[in-house]
Amino acid sequence: MPRIRQLANSVVSKIAAGEVIERPASVVKELLENSVDAGSSRIEIEVEQGGADLIRVVDNGCGILPEDLALAFANHATSKLATADDLFAVHTLGFRGEALASVSSVAQVMLQSRAPEQPLGAEISCHGGEMSEARAWNGSIGTRIEVRHLFYNTPVRRKFLRTASTEIGHVSENFTRVALAKPHLHLTLRHNDKIVYEVPAKATLMERIRLFFGGEVADQLYAIDARHGPAHLYGFIANPVCERGNARQQYLFLNGRWIRDRSLGHALQEGYRGLLMTGRYAVAFLYLELPPDLVDVNVHPTKAEVRFRDAQALYSFILSTVRDRLRAENLTARMRPPSVFGNTVPLFQPRPSEASGSLFGGGAREEPNRVVSDQWPVVSERKQSGIEPVAPAPTVSPQEDASPLAPRPSPLAPHSRTLQLHNAYLVLETADGMLIVDQHALHERILFEQLREKLQTGTLETQQLLIPEQVELSAEQAARTLEHRDQLAELGLGVEDFGGGTVLVTSYPTLLARRSPTEILRGVVDHLTNKGRVPTREQFLSEIMSLMACHAAVRSGDPLSAEEIDALVAMRHFAQDAHHCPHGRPTALLFTRQDLDRQFRRT
Ligand code: ADP
Ligand code: MG
Repeated sequence: MPRIRQLANSVVSKIAAGEVIERPASVVKELLENSVDAGSSRIEIEVEQGGADLIRVVDNGCGILPEDLALAFANHATSKLATADDLFAVHTLGFRGEALASVSSVAQVMLQSRAPEQPLGAEISCHGGEMSEARAWNGSIGTRIEVRHLFYNTPVRRKFLRTASTEIGHVSENFTRVALAKPHLHLTLRHNDKIVYEVPAKATLMERIRLFFGGEVADQLYAIDARHGPAHLYGFIANPVCERGNARQQYLFLNGRWIRDRSLGHALQEGYRGLLMTGRYAVAFLYLELPPDLVDVNVHPTKAEVRFRDAQALYSFILSTVRDRLRAENLTARMRPPSVFGNTVPLFQPRPSEASGSLFGGGAREEPNRVVSDQWPVVSERKQSGIEPVAPAPTVSPQEDASPLAPRPSPLAPHSRTLQLHNAYLVLETADGMLIVDQHALHERILFEQLREKLQTGTLETQQLLIPEQVELSAEQAARTLEHRDQLAELGLGVEDFGGGTVLVTSYPTLLARRSPTEILRGVVDHLTNKGRVPTREQFLSEIMSLMACHAAVRSGDPLSAEEIDALVAMRHFAQDAHHCPHGRPTALLFTRQDLDRQFRRT
């Protein structure tokens, strides 16, 4: 019969350490947080062999009194909290009194410190939980802590350490988070005696972002700053062209602490809805300030997750701030010469004199996908076919309308020169240059907006079918479809149960008259049965509308008449976001006159 026994303290602390200290980067994070909490203005970090051999952090903060030195290593010993109530007014990064106890139970630690009012400092070492006597230490004001041979007494953990370059990567990430969270600190990170980052105290947030992420990100940021009740949100969000394959460049800081929050991350992505393709992620640096009593930071030992008192309100606040800011920009995807003409590997090697000039000297980088204002041709005629303008087209010509400040319109009526290529792309001359439009993507976006507007204003016209169409589905597909019957009805798609897996389509939105009701329903069914999660009502409507728009739009490969082309191009004028299809693909690429001149060496 196995007997129950009380675990020795050394075992307990190793178990606890497992939660806080996973790898060298976790040690760096905890030590950095302590230095920040000590009010330091300058923190230097040195790491050897990815942190497996040595992590040294030196700060110029408030130090520790000699008589408190041993206590710093004790479990649940902290100078940052006194009562349980303080947990709801946390102004420091640390407060659990666990980090030094954890680190010193799985490594060999030397702590040296001197408080400003002390003539002499003190030092103490703690190896695997075994503490030495405190000794006098003649060092400068602040704290110096060395952590050697991490996991030396927990061989299994030590084996989990990856290569030095992987570990220093994680260390750098934690360093970056602190450098962004506390933009007044002077911070240095060295690895094996080489400087990895040196961030001066006077470096602004933008300069820090440029240092860590380069100009490609820094040049494409839009500042945000908004308030809602007691919440303040500021920082930067990136132009959607600066997207990524994962969410790692979505930084969120709460009251100066880097945090992870799935819900708020989702709000950010929602703000980019329609501007990013599925599986692509926005880049953002969001700073949220909230009164400490509106958030519980004591949720997780690493303090990276928090609980908000009103998560829903914050979700909407972030979503609307991001969406409004992006709407304020005119986001036409601008042709990047390298992707089309291979500017990085020019077709014709430039002569050295040209290469050093602005022509190839990073010219393509100097002007990232900037915002462009494109002039749209107007047409006075409309077409009956699948493509119908949203509103009566203005009858004035651009010439009559032109004010001295307006960009000079093209001397030739652009729509008359519009060209269709491969039955898929429309090529137009604009005042700025040349625009290539994806006919399907643009029509899809226009139909999507028409659907949305009609849904909102309750003017969605539906076509009742005299004889309902029967669509045979699997039992599961039929059930899923009928579950959403009410929402589909809102969109004009009437469905009824016919029994045995067969569903009747009784009506469909008139806007989608180009496709058969069965085809539209099958598209909806495929979509419904592919989804694992349960979408909110708004998400559902938006997804189905974009699906319907996709089905009903002209396709790539459809030949269009001159009138249809003109009507489609004219409708672009009325779309709120004519630049992206509902799935986030660009609808048009702009080649500026400057791009063309540059490519043909006319500059
Ligand atoms: P916590 O940060 O949660 O309080 P730690 O175990 O990280 O717990 O640190 C214990 C205590 O040691 C801190 O509360 C603080 O008083 C002191 N301390 C640790 N590092 C420093 C430092 N760099 N400068 C001044 N005091 C420190
Ligand atoms: Mg701490």
